[in-house]
Amino acid sequence: MNAPPALLDAGVEHDRAFDPQALLDRLVGDHPERLLHVHEVPARPAQFAEWPDWVDPTVLGALVGSGIERPWRHQVEVAEAAHRGEHVVVSTGTASGKSLGYLLPVLTDVTGGSRAPNGRGATALYLAPTKALAADQLDRITRLALPAVRPATYDGDTPTDERRWIRDHANVVLTNPDLVHHSLLPGHDRWASFLRALRYVVVDECHVYKGVFGAHLAAVLRRLRRVVARYRATPTFVFASATVADPSVHASRLLGMPLGSVTEDGSPRAPMTFALWEPPLVADQQGQPKRVSTLTEAGHLLAQCVEADVQTATFARSRAGVEVVANVARERLGESPAEGRSGGPRGRSPRVSAYRGGYLPEERRELERALRSRRLVGIAATNALELGVDVSGLDAVVLAGWPGTLASLWQQAGRAGRTGHRSLAVLVAADDPLDTFVVHHPESIFGRGVEATVVDPDNPHVLGPHLAAAAAELPLTVADFDVFGPQTGPLLDALVAKGILKKRPRGWFWAREDRPADHLSLRGAGEPVHIVETRTGRVVGTVDEASAHAQVHTGAVHLHQGQTWVVTELDLEDNAAFAVRGDPGWTTHAQSVSEFSIVRELEAVERGPLRCSFGHVTVTHQVVSFLRRLPGGEVLGEHPLDLPPRSLATKAMWWTLPVDSLAAAGVAEVDLPGAAHAAEHAAIGMLPLFATADRWDIGGVSTALHPDTGLPTVLIYDGHPGGAGFAERGFRRVREWLRATREAIASCECAAGCPACIQSPKCGNGNEPLDKVGAVALLDLTLSHLG
Ligand SMILES: [Zn+2]
Ligand SMILES: [Zn+2]
Repeated sequence: MNAPPALLDAGVEHDRAFDPQALLDRLVGDHPERLLHVHEVPARPAQFAEWPDWVDPTVLGALVGSGIERPWRHQVEVAEAAHRGEHVVVSTGTASGKSLGYLLPVLTDVTGGSRAPNGRGATALYLAPTKALAADQLDRITRLALPAVRPATYDGDTPTDERRWIRDHANVVLTNPDLVHHSLLPGHDRWASFLRALRYVVVDECHVYKGVFGAHLAAVLRRLRRVVARYRATPTFVFASATVADPSVHASRLLGMPLGSVTEDGSPRAPMTFALWEPPLVADQQGQPKRVSTLTEAGHLLAQCVEADVQTATFARSRAGVEVVANVARERLGESPAEGRSGGPRGRSPRVSAYRGGYLPEERRELERALRSRRLVGIAATNALELGVDVSGLDAVVLAGWPGTLASLWQQAGRAGRTGHRSLAVLVAADDPLDTFVVHHPESIFGRGVEATVVDPDNPHVLGPHLAAAAAELPLTVADFDVFGPQTGPLLDALVAKGILKKRPRGWFWAREDRPADHLSLRGAGEPVHIVETRTGRVVGTVDEASAHAQVHTGAVHLHQGQTWVVTELDLEDNAAFAVRGDPGWTTHAQSVSEFSIVRELEAVERGPLRCSFGHVTVTHQVVSFLRRLPGGEVLGEHPLDLPPRSLATKAMWWTLPVDSLAAAGVAEVDLPGAAHAAEHAAIGMLPLFATADRWDIGGVSTALHPDTGLPTVLIYDGHPGGAGFAERGFRRVREWLRATREAIASCECAAGCPACIQSPKCGNGNEPLDKVGAVALLDLTLSHLG
């Protein structure tokens, strides 16, 4: 962001026609094999509606003055439902103006409420998953300059005296679920006048609340419903979501009450050409075939787009990846890496920039100006860009790897497309089974709706502590069982038995001196392990407890925010990993042993010799040693570790087949461990296509003979206490999931297994043994019985 404003040619509109097909031909060049599929996404016409007649005239005037001439149909549908007092979820695409739908009733009612004797007859609570998003929403409301609306953000950084003003006077409070949990609910009496007038609760970006985080939000919303009922308020809940499957199912699981949905997007969209791309195979140093890295390939594509003067954003999964993409592109364009940084040399300004996040608002605005003036032609970013910088209206988007979910894929691709102009999106496959599968199976992207988001509000490991917190807010009674669901009774008994709650004739009471919310964080379970600089005692970061043994064991080489640290000692008692800066030139890989026991089978499907099950399990995991490896993969040595086993009570799906059936299908008994292990890895890699999980949320164990089943068993489990709903989703869709898994392995061009099919970056056994052919045979046999 180095050019002074005088150098900007802001406002220059670039209206040269852009032809996605011509650009694609140029990118393909002499390598047609890289382009696997081209899909044309058709245009969508705008559907307008009239402003509702109940909208307050000052609100209407401000909105029209801000440039909104007429609302789109979905915005009015949401506004009407909320105005009628019906809970509703809106699930439409990026930049479809979801917020107007709730702002119309919220601002209208808040304005009307300002005529109440205390000036606060109606209030609204807005919840965003991040502070940045709440700040953006505040900015938006403030710019409308409505005299009766007093909006304020309330988060961890809000000073104490300002907090008091907000509680007593603000009528639109923008905050996050963590603050509701830690501050608003425990101190609800200080919020009495705000809560008494509470008319709306908006839950924005609600697709983010999935898995365990979703279960936490569900519990927080139930606690909120109960507390506001005490103040005789009956707020209407409005949820906004990116495009997901069954948004009303998801939102009603979060809310605990049924609600309506608005899903037909009335905003217009220009046509888009969507290409699926696979990096080429080249020979490595040993002459073995190896794919060009996704980041390198994406960097080359970005540079070629910039050469063609096509404004392009490239999205990578990590910040480090963003740097690689930008550097590859600059190198190819003959720009030095330094030119992309602020304060770089004067003269020709760089055409490619890396967006690293954490920018100040003025820096973000400067970046937007540079893009709009086309001084900047290429940008590389993580999806952090999705929050806070408006880059809409680009010509092309390159996605370096599957962005995690179909919803994010469309969100990122949606960054391309100036009004009325065609655009291009290119998905470059990364080296893992899911990416390989989707680029070879376009129907998995274009022929179906997006994934359903999973959340289990009854997870006892999440709900139990929230019940304790609820009892501290207001004593629990039998009437609350309806709010918190069927697990409430047994969980309250357990809390009483532990001395956390006391049962009295009038209900369940908090029995301790301290505050329950202090023991419970909404993001991640357990005490985090601090990384402490040995020399200074400074805490440089944290690692969550569940992965500490594998990541920061004594001797571990740990990458933290781009810097390399060597752990000198992991102190489990103090939750600290002491570390020194420096790169020893090798990497470390924790080795572990895993076992599981089946606690209770909840459901099972039996087809001939095949049995698929879902239920409660306990997985025991022990990090036993680590390998030191050189960058080329060569192992320097294995070093034992003395760490205690950790056990996880969770939910899992598993399937079994008898040894003789497997032998008849071509999997000999000696090859069984490798076949099951390879099938397990690939199945973990593919599950995120069917449940919106991260690969790291899921674990697996496979064995040629399990004592509980007496058979060869493959088990896939949720990596969170109590489960998170991912394994259950896999069980429900086992046929499609395992068919995709089989395809991902079978269609991979490698000889004996690679990261794109059966090798896993998180394997605790150093990816040994793995049997690619055996895995396909095992899955074929499984699928033959699933029909
Ligand atoms: Zn492979
Ligand atoms: Zn493994």
